[in-house]
Amino acid sequence: MRTWSVPAGRIFGVELRIHLSFALLLLFVGMNEQLSRNVVSPWRGTALVAIVFGSVILHELGHALVGKHSGVPPKAIVLLPIGGVTIFDDSEPDVPANWKRDVRIALAGPIVNFLLAGLGTLAVHLAAPNQRIGASPYMNSANLTHSLVWANLWLALLNLLPAYPLDGGRVLRAIFSRTMDPVAATRRAISIGRGFAFAFMLAGWWNAWLAAIGVFLFLAAQMEDRSAVFRSVLETVRLEDIMLTDFATLSPADTLEDALDKAVHCLQDDFPVIRGADMVGVVSKQKILQTLRREGNGYVQAIMNRIFDVAQKSESLSSAFRKLSARNLSIIPVVEDQQLVGIVTLQNLMHSMALLAETRKLRKAAMES
Ligand SMILES: [Zn+2]
Repeated sequence: MRTWSVPAGRIFGVELRIHLSFALLLLFVGMNEQLSRNVVSPWRGTALVAIVFGSVILHELGHALVGKHSGVPPKAIVLLPIGGVTIFDDSEPDVPANWKRDVRIALAGPIVNFLLAGLGTLAVHLAAPNQRIGASPYMNSANLTHSLVWANLWLALLNLLPAYPLDGGRVLRAIFSRTMDPVAATRRAISIGRGFAFAFMLAGWWNAWLAAIGVFLFLAAQMEDRSAVFRSVLETVRLEDIMLTDFATLSPADTLEDALDKAVHCLQDDFPVIRGADMVGVVSKQKILQTLRREGNGYVQAIMNRIFDVAQKSESLSSAFRKLSARNLSIIPVVEDQQLVGIVTLQNLMHSMALLAETRKLRKAAMES
């Protein structure tokens, strides 16, 4: 979701990003205008786009604000042509599961749209009592209030479909999570979401825009599925499964030139610094190189990072990730009974995860044959 999107400022402290496919929505509005063949000013066309855009943003702000008040602060809002996605912060310490809170956050978006549609209807009634809200064309720059009503009804109803990751699907997921573990609940909601995506694609026979919605739903479900699997791997893999047990260490009394020499011979990018049996710091190859270039030779002691975190070998990968990102480190020493037994570095993390997946696959194949 984050790739393919461009930053578009901040709103109430939440980062706003626009997904490039959002351009499709503009195309949709433009084509509707063409079809209705009325000659209107470009200002009105722009106003219509602004109405749709504003409605999507208000929808997402609904999620974001309710999230914030329920203790789940939002990190970013990504605008997609089928609405938006509010991204909540994964690096925050785990918020306890609470299905009622999740339902409230999911419903906040569509409720905002229903309110806007209601206000629009009221405005139409007051300004032009004999105009019918149900009359076609629904979205048209010649009648902006009318378009406001229909754009919001459309956003609310589409998002209430029980097709994860749409809001209705999130409600469904929250209900599933009452009786099953969160990853299983997400995956069940995602498979229902895929069913809806296929139904939309089939309906494309009748209307090409429905097919486009289907494709987007499918892609979104796919992305959510991958991140659900990723999260479950992060929770189940222990550090002892992937830590490096064969690694080089430095001493605070080593010179930077000695340290660089060691680094050349062992392909390691980050080193624990050991004095006797104690770990006293961490240092990276990059830092050693930088200091050598700028200030010439010196001692590891002077440049090592004394602020670091250690992890137990039974800790999960996700907790190690949190510790790494909280202190912006690229290495975490793994200890058992206060003894250094391994290290986990960002560099080795991805590599080991791929290897681990491979070994598990092989083990599974061996058990089945
Ligand atoms: Zn929503």
